[in-house]
Amino acid sequence: PLARLPEEWAKEVVRLGGRTFHGKQVFRWLMARGVFEPAQMTDLPKDLRRALAEGGVEPVLTVLPGTRAADRTRKLLVRLRDGATVETVLIPGVSGERRLGRGVQDETESDDADAAAAVDDEDDDEDQGDENPQGKSYLRVTQCISTQVGCAMGCVFCASGVAGLKRNLGPDEIVAQVLAGKAELDDDERLRNIVYMGMGEPLHNYASTVRSLRLLTHADGLAISPRRITVSTSGLVPEIAKLGADFAGQIGLAISLHAADDETRSRLMPINKKYPLAALIEGLRAYPLPRRRRITIEYTLVSGKNDAPLEATKLAKLLRGLPVKVNLIPMNPIEASTLGPPAGARTLEFQRVLLDAGYSVFIRRRRGDDVAAACGQLALLGAKPKVRVDRG
Ligand code: SAH
Ligand code: SF4
Repeated sequence: PLARLPEEWAKEVVRLGGRTFHGKQVFRWLMARGVFEPAQMTDLPKDLRRALAEGGVEPVLTVLPGTRAADRTRKLLVRLRDGATVETVLIPGVSGERRLGRGVQDETESDDADAAAAVDDEDDDEDQGDENPQGKSYLRVTQCISTQVGCAMGCVFCASGVAGLKRNLGPDEIVAQVLAGKAELDDDERLRNIVYMGMGEPLHNYASTVRSLRLLTHADGLAISPRRITVSTSGLVPEIAKLGADFAGQIGLAISLHAADDETRSRLMPINKKYPLAALIEGLRAYPLPRRRRITIEYTLVSGKNDAPLEATKLAKLLRGLPVKVNLIPMNPIEASTLGPPAGARTLEFQRVLLDAGYSVFIRRRRGDDVAAACGQLALLGAKPKVRVDRG
């Protein structure tokens, strides 16, 4: 049921004996208020509530006991109807107080949350004066969501890639992660950004991804601004073009680049053999990005593979003229591989080259890695949280 848009609910409720406008109300209960029990949908006629309940609004997923990192990052392990599990991560960022202004962020470390660093914050001032009942600013939370169980792309540094693709998630399963995440928020927190950076390649599950975007952004539901949503992709060129066209460039785009030449990139990311760098860069140039917005370039630094200063020089050249900011991510170790991050000094050296070439470059702080919630560490089936906390 979570996959339905209001107009589709309208048809459904009419079929069940209700009126067209009840469709919008059901959608609002589910998506804006997080109420799934038809009996509690108090503005619907009793008969309709009963009919809806008989149809059965089965839960899309169950949240297993979560894990909370020292930095308040927490990972929700979510069990789907067929028993498969995926993870979604809540990452509190800086508070709603005025942040370092645009362009003057700390150059060595983004003050933003892990994945949140990928999100454009050019309209960050919107929330000024937005206070919670205690008169304090809300803590802004970025949620990282999954789109597949595993991933078919096979990137060598990624736990999901090493595992392979088990199945696609449906739009309802993607949206349900957000509703579950919202229900987990503390009183002083507010859901601010959504990043499609969990398990899976969102553009390899294009139909579900697009429908989930329509559901999350719909004005009658959660009404999340498309600009606060970022889809991260390993570079599926035709789907990047489709996404640009389907949402007029409004959805934020993050590209996992990880190398500046085809040989290196193909070694790290097999998808590069299908869509080599020239095609990808051309695709990025064609993306209908609104003015003043930038594409996020993600570059996972893998020791001895793509972290030489010369490669930073190549990267600077490759990206010339594109509206981008660069996020450097020192590789988080994964069990299945001996690959690892470079020494800190090498990361800084890599960054220095790009800064000198005039780029905005952030080094993504490790968040939540004590609960294996950092990029690329999201585990697969049956993963056991290391720490259990009581929820609620
Ligand atoms: N499939 C999409 C989105 C999920 S991955 C994509 O690849 O873009 C989110 C980001 O985490 C990607 O940039 C990915 O390359 C990066 N990543 C994967 N494994 C990692 C690891 N072990 N350490 C650091 N970053 C990793
Ligand atoms: Fe898939 Fe992204 Fe991991 Fe590559 S980095 S295997 S595309 S999830």
